[in-house]
Amino acid sequence: MEEIKNKAQYCLHCKVKPCSLKGCPLGNNIPDFIEQIKNNNYAKAYEILCQTTVLPGVCGRICPHQKQCQGSCVRGIKGEPVAIGDLEAFVFDKAMEEGENLLKYWEEEIEKNKKIRGNKKVAVIGGGPSGLTAAAFLAKAGIEVIIYEKYNELGGLLRYGIPEFRLEKSIVKETIKNILELGIKVEYQKELGKNLSLEELKEKYDAIFLGFGANCSSKMGVEGEELEGVFGGNELLEYNLHPDYKGKKVAIVGGGNVAMDCARTVKRLGAEEVKVIYRRAREQMPAEDKEIEEAINEGVEFLFQNNIVKIIGNKEEKVTEVELIKTELVQKEGETRLVPVNIEKSNYKIDIDYIIMALGANPASYVKELALELNRWGNIEINENYQTSDKKIYAGGDLAGVKGTVAWASYSGREAAKKIIENI
Ligand code: SF4
Repeated sequence: MEEIKNKAQYCLHCKVKPCSLKGCPLGNNIPDFIEQIKNNNYAKAYEILCQTTVLPGVCGRICPHQKQCQGSCVRGIKGEPVAIGDLEAFVFDKAMEEGENLLKYWEEEIEKNKKIRGNKKVAVIGGGPSGLTAAAFLAKAGIEVIIYEKYNELGGLLRYGIPEFRLEKSIVKETIKNILELGIKVEYQKELGKNLSLEELKEKYDAIFLGFGANCSSKMGVEGEELEGVFGGNELLEYNLHPDYKGKKVAIVGGGNVAMDCARTVKRLGAEEVKVIYRRAREQMPAEDKEIEEAINEGVEFLFQNNIVKIIGNKEEKVTEVELIKTELVQKEGETRLVPVNIEKSNYKIDIDYIIMALGANPASYVKELALELNRWGNIEINENYQTSDKKIYAGGDLAGVKGTVAWASYSGREAAKKIIENI
């Protein structure tokens, strides 16, 4: 507790609050919630966070704080920034411990709003960060909300994509319980393209919010990618389909958080060697520095500025080697970041048993059959109101290609909910 108090005391309660206004995607009122920790008023700190977020326990743990709130903290100019993530996680944990809940702070508003919009119904497809947030803010506006979820449990990426060592399932469970207490109903094992259709939903609801994510690993397009032993990182994490890694050499291709989650998971599952192959330098890695540091401490090796030329297999079509080439980073006209260029004749091979591709993800293929316009990356196209090409259908999160962090997905769910409320 003393440590938390010291972390809170370190905050200057800046009037301009760049941490909130520039750094936090959700615009959480960071100086004020921290001020309440200083005053020992943890319930009030939680109440302040609840004005803008329904995921404080999650974001406090897994947001890339260095690139978001803490990256804009005034304290960080000359030294260490305030540990905003730790303080947010603390407030959520304390609130749960003391029996606080979202409903307590929102109930009056919900009852008042039900008199205005109690006859309105919205369907939310997908119970991940954007769907849960949209559902919560729609319920707050007095609207009847039903979430359609393909699994038996809600959480999406939070439950099925992020490993336990980074986000405990108990936190996800508490978060979901808190949200469902707002009166949101759920229909489990319902999936578009299988046992759910947009046409039937459009007849029953005033609006539909699509937030079922994008979790199909992108392909690199190199020779040998179809060999046995080559996996998509997103699918491995989502379906937990790991082979036996004991004594094996595993390469992870990519530099984002999915690559870090895969590398650290594989290491924990007993792989002898885990190498992350990334074509740029460490400074350009999209993964949070903390994640990279922890992976290094856990024994993961990094091959920075290396690119894959081809994956090589044996007679049984099983991967055995990978050919790499070194890269140099050059500034090219019109490019905002350094471009990796292969260095001629720097090819070499390494032995490998499994390769995990973690280069980004796309929406499931059935999205193409929804008769909604897609953008050039295959995400659902939305306008500034989060509306798709069908004005009754809204979308957010990874599915709509919003910036890929949980806080941004949550922000898109909250803002889409506001637009739905305005329009129905
Ligand atoms: Fe506190 Fe840093 Fe935000 Fe200032 S910028 S209010 S010091 S967290």
